[in-house]
Amino acid sequence: MSAASTPAARTHTTPAPLPQAPAPAPARATTPDDVRRRNRAAMLRYLYGRERVTRQELAANLGLSLPTVTQNLHAMLEEGLAMPGDALSSTGGRRARGYAFNPRHRLAVGAQAGPTTLLLRAVDLYGNVVMERVRSLPYRADVAYRQRVGGIVGEFAAECGAVIGAGVCLPDAAGAGAEHRPDHARTPAAQSPAARTPAAQPFAVQSSPAQQPPISQPSAAQSVAVAFARHSPAPCATVRPPQAAAFAELWHDRTLRNALCIYLDRRPSGAMIVNDSVLPGCAIEHMTLVPGGRECRCGRRGCMDAYCSLETLPEDYESIPGFFSVLEQGETHHRERMNRWLDHVALAIANARSVVPGDVIVGGEAAQYLDDADIAALTRRVADLDAQSVGGHADANVMNDDAYGTGADANTGADAHGTGGTGPALTLRTASCDDGACATGAALRFVRPYLDGLFGV
Ligand SMILES: [Zn+2]
Repeated sequence: MSAASTPAARTHTTPAPLPQAPAPAPARATTPDDVRRRNRAAMLRYLYGRERVTRQELAANLGLSLPTVTQNLHAMLEEGLAMPGDALSSTGGRRARGYAFNPRHRLAVGAQAGPTTLLLRAVDLYGNVVMERVRSLPYRADVAYRQRVGGIVGEFAAECGAVIGAGVCLPDAAGAGAEHRPDHARTPAAQSPAARTPAAQPFAVQSSPAQQPPISQPSAAQSVAVAFARHSPAPCATVRPPQAAAFAELWHDRTLRNALCIYLDRRPSGAMIVNDSVLPGCAIEHMTLVPGGRECRCGRRGCMDAYCSLETLPEDYESIPGFFSVLEQGETHHRERMNRWLDHVALAIANARSVVPGDVIVGGEAAQYLDDADIAALTRRVADLDAQSVGGHADANVMNDDAYGTGADANTGADAHGTGGTGPALTLRTASCDDGACATGAALRFVRPYLDGLFGV
């Protein structure tokens, strides 16, 4: 994901997600307590999905008596679950008092710790970012750093009040630093990156620092997780950054069902959304794109990481922004490099889509540089590869290194098409969430289960 050094550029104000449908009634005999719980859950679900409602509306639409509605509302106001809403505009009659769901009666917290900054966010139960703290905090593996983190986290947690959970973005080992993997890491048993990283269980809840996963060296994210566990009674969980960002994407785009989220950063990563859920343990960055190709930081050869990293684009001594600046001026050699990079990104996307067909969301640092023409070119490449796969290649697409580097760019022709093969139409777009999406998503991970509990799902 993008470095946390950039503070959030904007705060989302999103419409309230639709409430979940209630679970089927249990088979056992219904007790008065069951009825009370069900009425309360139904009222909360109704309130959540609307700006404000009246007692009469609740009673009429939920089939409840006015005394039942009044009694429940009274309890909800006491507990802070509901709040008085604005009075409804009068249509000539008496103004009826409105009520609303109180989205801030609990908050969820997300944290994103980078090499130089610490980003903390709190979201309300509508997923809106309601508190944010960005601190310049260069990482150091010492006590002073951990104390500083503890102070910042403790202060933030205290300001948040009642918190349902804290999610901390924890990059996996292969992406967390310039760690060189020894030869034994190349054995078949170790070839799944997810299987050998501390973040293989991305949502493992850690109730105390003693339950932290084994680590080879302390990291900024782990310091934050320890601080949360010390300063907040709420559960603290670690989440891989691409999965956290996918959570945010899923929350803010309720039309998503199946999607590949690919984050094109200096260290690429990805996450898959299947049936409205973010899959744990998906690490597409080490799929083989070029058998026997360039050496990857994971120790193997030909991984996506080695071909789709933004760091592969610039020439010697050129910065990544510098590369895109020259590219924009129409420099031919840079365009050739860009086209080859797009070829590899398309290949990675097509391979992932061969497993889970769905929308493609491109995020990360690259997303800020890719213009409409680049997105269209990438879409055409993926569609062409999809078409090739449907045309008889059962195996995952791989690229021959011999073909790489010719500068050929067959996919930018005017006859290129937008969709390929017989699969579903390809929708490819840039991510809609901001630079702090990881922190937002790490927090949102707690919200859905909490709401499901409130709504009796
Ligand atoms: Zn690799």
